[in-house]
Amino acid sequence: MGLVIDIAAIQANWKALAARAGSARPGAVVKADAYGLGALRVAPALYQAGARDFFVALAGEGRAIRPHLPDDARIFVLSGHMEGADLAGLIPVLNSPEQFFRDRALRPRGPFAIQLDTGMNRLGMEAAEWAAIRAEALAAGPQLVMSHLACADEPDHPANAQQLAAFHAMTDGIGVPRSFAATGGILLGPDYHFDLVRPGVGLYGGEPFADAKPVVTLSLPVVQTREVKPGESVGYGYNWTAARPSRVATVAAGYADGLARALGREGKLRLWAGDRACPVIGRISMDLITVDVTDLPEVPPALEILNARQGVDAVAALGGTIGYEILTSLGRRYERTYL
Ligand SMILES: *Cc1c(COP(=O)(O)O)cnc(C)c1O
Repeated sequence: MGLVIDIAAIQANWKALAARAGSARPGAVVKADAYGLGALRVAPALYQAGARDFFVALAGEGRAIRPHLPDDARIFVLSGHMEGADLAGLIPVLNSPEQFFRDRALRPRGPFAIQLDTGMNRLGMEAAEWAAIRAEALAAGPQLVMSHLACADEPDHPANAQQLAAFHAMTDGIGVPRSFAATGGILLGPDYHFDLVRPGVGLYGGEPFADAKPVVTLSLPVVQTREVKPGESVGYGYNWTAARPSRVATVAAGYADGLARALGREGKLRLWAGDRACPVIGRISMDLITVDVTDLPEVPPALEILNARQGVDAVAALGGTIGYEILTSLGRRYERTYL
């Protein structure tokens, strides 16, 4: 019951992506609490699998996992050196000349990395900014120079080759380890791998890593079951009306647990009893979801919303979003079990 997180599957996915990355060193992205699954459990497990390079978004996330990882684990902070940040034991990925000069002034011997913008226009130094500080930055000995792909989940998108060419133009011959690929970039092939790869979502069972082992099972306890007569309605707005004598199960989870109302908007969301799918009916409310279980011979104590049959991307698509958002929205109220 509750949220079951298969740590061995995360380790297997890391190893599978590491194998795809050939000779590139495989890192692991554990930002946003390891995509909602629990960085304090996931990061040490990935260390055990062989990962030594971890990426988080914020210094606070890095500080939280630092005591749980041995000293030879590097923790890169993607937001870089923000004003007032405590970066002890962490490696900021410096995104602008401003961050670079702040960092060098405050931690002259502290380890750092550099992020370059190759077209995404989100984080990183632009070509002209990089050209201006490049000699000084390289002399200071960055651990890594990296950039990020905007369209790696669309292999035919012309931006991939354009960003790759821009990265080469900015970094060829620098003599510093380079990193370019997240999950999608790893799958684009060896041209994109460089020295270190940064898989995130693929570790957690999400697209575009189609061969990922499923990582999460989420089963929602049935609170109550009732019989509903034809013509009777269910839930807020009386949004669903029974066309036949029906049995309705009410399960304990809702939009406050990360299961957005929009997931039910097309009426295609299903909860599972073993291999049998049961349609969600009526609106998803804050703490409760109603399910048509009429066709089940017996109502089990819990129904699954995420499992090997219905993964995070399938659920996400019903709400017009992506698996990343389903994962990182998983609520704090679920009872969590780590396998
Ligand atoms: C989130 C992130 C990653 C991981 O991306 P996935 O698509 O989840 O593999 C890698 N690098 C950077 C800079 C990121 O922001």
